[in-house]
Amino acid sequence: MMTLEKLQELKEKSRLVLEERLKEEDNTEVKDGNFILKGDYYRKQTRIALRNCEIIRPESIDEYIALDGYTSLGRILTEMKPEDVINTMVESNLRGRGGAGFPAGRKWAEAFKYDSDKKYVICNADEGDPGAFMDRSILEGDPHSVLEGMAIAGYAIGADQGFIYVRAEYPLAVKRLKQAIEQAKEYGLLGNNILGTGFNFDIELRLGAGAFVCGEGTALMESIEGKRGMPRTKIYRTAQKGLWQKPTVINNVETLANVPVIFQRGTEWFRGIGTEKSPGTKVFALVGKVKNAGLVEVPMGMPLREIVFDIGGGVADDKAIKAVQTGGPSGGCIPADLLDTPVDFESLAKIGSIMGSGGMVVMDETDCMVDIARFFLDFTVEESCGKCVPCREGTKRMLELLEKITSGEGTEEDIARMESLADTISSASLCGLGQTAANPVTSTLHYFREEYEAHVNEKK
Ligand code: SF4
Repeated sequence: MMTLEKLQELKEKSRLVLEERLKEEDNTEVKDGNFILKGDYYRKQTRIALRNCEIIRPESIDEYIALDGYTSLGRILTEMKPEDVINTMVESNLRGRGGAGFPAGRKWAEAFKYDSDKKYVICNADEGDPGAFMDRSILEGDPHSVLEGMAIAGYAIGADQGFIYVRAEYPLAVKRLKQAIEQAKEYGLLGNNILGTGFNFDIELRLGAGAFVCGEGTALMESIEGKRGMPRTKIYRTAQKGLWQKPTVINNVETLANVPVIFQRGTEWFRGIGTEKSPGTKVFALVGKVKNAGLVEVPMGMPLREIVFDIGGGVADDKAIKAVQTGGPSGGCIPADLLDTPVDFESLAKIGSIMGSGGMVVMDETDCMVDIARFFLDFTVEESCGKCVPCREGTKRMLELLEKITSGEGTEEDIARMESLADTISSASLCGLGQTAANPVTSTLHYFREEYEAHVNEKK
């Protein structure tokens, strides 16, 4: 049976093997005892959630263990009470990386306080924003970090069952997760009597069939329960009555991947990165008209300009930058003159956008902002589940108005109608999808109104 001592021995042995391999491959360097990837693209990044990606072989649990994998879980199970685990999480102020930014520790604390014969931990891996692939990369590149984060959450709240709700369109992530779960069970790091401590925690996969709305927590739970994935009316909080009406914690992939590191390196270290209100890092999928597209992980609060120019290398073909869209279909377009905005939850909200799960699309001077708004709204209309009228009908009507405007048939009154519809949709929709559906339209109207007016005046 695997014990903490055996885990420690395995770690030392595996570290030597890993060091040997990485030395031969020569694409990493060691900084403060940690391996980091070489190259300009990584120099300005701080990789916590992506710490092991492209460094360890994701199929090898030994390589995960070599870099302190499962040591946080082992230490927690042998040395800490669930209350202490929760206090550490609250102290870290790790905020949910899936979009809303709700503190993970507060979710855990709430689920902990309810007595129940059964509780659940869910990993939301139903990443669906166009152009976003943060969670997919973590699952494909470092699946054990998510499993370890889930097991820690399970111990903290008193759950013995976890589910990972992952998109079926991510076959490699699914394969790696299945393999990682089997390995962790073989090693006694998941399943019954983990590390001989008497703690039981199992994880099952549930495959999402591609509905964007199933990334919403309550729709996701409906789907796991075998029903149609539609958001619930929010009478209870998930931490009180979630999956099968039992206390449930839902965290997204990136949030969970941060958890083991917080227990390895401490809350003071974690809070020393990022900003006071948004500590830690955030992973972004930097895409669009940027020279170096790809995943970047940076400390919260890094100005947008630094991400796009110092890491992303600036705009492709040396064109002028027009805007950056953050937050996916729920987000907003940030104009070039606000590029010095620090990227954190509060600062983005102040200028009418959101962090979202980490989509970051760069647009150049040739892009039409009305077309961009139409693209995102088109996506939302497709993905609306149809449960409530403001979203189901309102987004369709808004898209019709947008299409009328882009075809040169629109009027000033149509712009005013869209603004009024945006108010209704955001205030009366049932779930976040509808509540934020108008954001791409309202933010482009706010910052690029002249482009809407140019379309309206096209046929005059
Ligand atoms: Fe469905 Fe849209 Fe209503 Fe959400 S807001 S419940 S996606 S119709």
